[in-house]
Amino acid sequence: MQGMSSVRDSMQCQGLTKSGQQCRNQATSNGFCHIHGGLPSRNVARRESQRAYVNMTPEQKAEHDHFAMGCMFMVIVLALIFGLLTGDWHGVGKWLSR
Ligand SMILES: [Zn+2]
Repeated sequence: MQGMSSVRDSMQCQGLTKSGQQCRNQATSNGFCHIHGGLPSRNVARRESQRAYVNMTPEQKAEHDHFAMGCMFMVIVLALIFGLLTGDWHGVGKWLSR
């Protein structure tokens, strides 16, 4: 049927799949499919935090960066300790890529 594809594109889910591709599912009224529509995905949360970051003053950004660096460092250290203790490096990789 002609015209169907353009209609479907406009109703395409705004969420992203695990591989980072645009979700091909048909969106509901909220702009997301039944998978992405329920709870906000991490991509949406990331987009929200990026938007908040853009609105920060330089001082707030510096503070945010410092805090984020500290958090990242802690996460990596904890992951290394976890990996050394359990030997589950595959699990550590999965955990870090969350
Ligand atoms: Zn979706």
